[in-house]
Amino acid sequence: MYRYFMEVDDKSSRAVFVPPGAGPRVLFGENDVGDLVHVLDAERGLACNLICPDCKGVLVANKGAIKAAYFSHQSRIDCEHAGETALHLMAKEIIEQQGWFDLPEARAWSYRRGSGYSYMPIRNTQRVHFTRVEVEPRQEGFQPDLIGIKEIVKNGRKVIGRLHIEIYVTHKVDEEKLSRFRSKEESVLEVDLSDVERSLSKLELTDLLLSNAKKKWLYHRDIEKYEAQLRARLEAEEARDREKRRDLERRISEDLKKREESLNSAPAEATAEQRQFADREEKRWHLIGCGHFLDSEADDRYFDVPPGVWRAFALAALAPWQSNAKQWIEDEREVDLPATISSALKEFGWVKSPFSSKYRKKYCDHGHELVYWDRAADEVRKFLSPVLNGYDYPSVWSETKKLKMLSSALRTKYDLLMKEHGITNSSSAL
Ligand SMILES: [Zn+2]
Repeated sequence: MYRYFMEVDDKSSRAVFVPPGAGPRVLFGENDVGDLVHVLDAERGLACNLICPDCKGVLVANKGAIKAAYFSHQSRIDCEHAGETALHLMAKEIIEQQGWFDLPEARAWSYRRGSGYSYMPIRNTQRVHFTRVEVEPRQEGFQPDLIGIKEIVKNGRKVIGRLHIEIYVTHKVDEEKLSRFRSKEESVLEVDLSDVERSLSKLELTDLLLSNAKKKWLYHRDIEKYEAQLRARLEAEEARDREKRRDLERRISEDLKKREESLNSAPAEATAEQRQFADREEKRWHLIGCGHFLDSEADDRYFDVPPGVWRAFALAALAPWQSNAKQWIEDEREVDLPATISSALKEFGWVKSPFSSKYRKKYCDHGHELVYWDRAADEVRKFLSPVLNGYDYPSVWSETKKLKMLSSALRTKYDLLMKEHGITNSSSAL
């Protein structure tokens, strides 16, 4: 009976199910054996003896000389489902006659805590040309709309692929029917025509149906296999991530241990030259009444020389008896003194190796990155900071400027002291 549509389409109006803007009118009526009859082939009026395929109400065939023919409902009650049955039948017939169909992509999904939803394609979008299409084939216990059958030869053997196609106009495939597809491992695709205009032409419907209609895999026979593959892949990825995290934690703890050991290890012993330098400097600071400068707050454990040695060097930048200290005072640039001193200490090898870099490793989930953190400079800064205590520079905010002013004051004090003792050659005197 489906063949019928193909013939009428050529001679009928553009619309194939209901005339456009027609309300409760239809173009097909159902006869007493369940076949659909086009209005052009029906008797005029009630004599057509047909009912509405959708609401089963009695139809009247309106066949005037001027207006295109159509059926109206005898009851004159609006039939909201008008055209649905015809649309459903027409869709099946088009697929059967065209013999091809665009399949949408099929995906296997997996949800995992932490990583959310992931998917794996089972098959890509593909145009399939069926060997033949069976319409409403009798199956044990249930009735599929269509089965597309494709015979291919694989490794010299004939393989038959079957695809169930369900046309959704008003009734979705129910859970019971779906479970039958599942238990038989038969793939089933739904074509959603529920939103389709009932007044479209057959050409429009063909185009829509084969290519552009909403299509959804209700079940794909390979879904379990692909879901298992996807799960295995995600589990392997998680295991790799866990291993990476463990490795990172191991590296962090090794790094921390190395720093801890380094902090607790005694500094290298001073050489004779270093000791001599430290002693001489200490004596000079005491002489000008600034011996307490050497006792400032600082953590000596970061340095690989005895405290007196690195501290004497750090203070040398302010010492009035040091000629390079004078240069630094006269330099107009804003120099970060603690950082400069720390760089020199590192160059001498006086800073313990885990702290000799300006950068520190910062560990994060993906590995590590280097962040700026000059530990030795921090300690030098901490050490120099109290040296400024007791000196009031109300209008000066820059630490460098304060240090320069202090340095000048010390120089004046030192020069006076030398004059008192009648010494003129500063470098050899005290
Ligand atoms: Zn009706």
